[in-house]
Amino acid sequence: MLRKKIIIGNKYGKLTIIRKENNYWYICDCDCGNRIMVSAKDLEWNKIHNCGCTSKEKILREKEQKKIEKLFDEDRFKNGRSGASFWKRQVLIRDNCICQMCGASPAKDPTVDLHADHITPWSRGGKTTLENLRTLCMKCNIGKGDLHDE
Ligand SMILES: [Zn+2]
Ligand SMILES: [Zn+2]
Repeated sequence: MLRKKIIIGNKYGKLTIIRKENNYWYICDCDCGNRIMVSAKDLEWNKIHNCGCTSKEKILREKEQKKIEKLFDEDRFKNGRSGASFWKRQVLIRDNCICQMCGASPAKDPTVDLHADHITPWSRGGKTTLENLRTLCMKCNIGKGDLHDE
């Protein structure tokens, strides 16, 4: 492998060299927004191309994507409990565990029981997506008079 000359402003993969810190270290900006210090050796020998974000990010994103696709495929929200709890979790986290109709929250009142509710009911073609789900407390969910969702 050839030893590279380090030039300020050059790109090494996702890293852009911003400035020389000293004889051994360079400050680099990664495309992901991270600013890191990279050793001259790693740059010269072309050993480093990102701040370490790519592999981690990519694996996490792919994992999450696969999990969601699988749930859609198997229609588990309708037929199984594990899918339901997955979506319930996502919806409750997004809504900060607060009922979207009356504002009840188990954080304020431990007797409040929250559910993930289809805005357009499943029976009327409503999809199990975050956009079509909202957090409702038991009272509002029943009072709504629509299909009851877990
Ligand atoms: Zn990065
Ligand atoms: Zn409520």
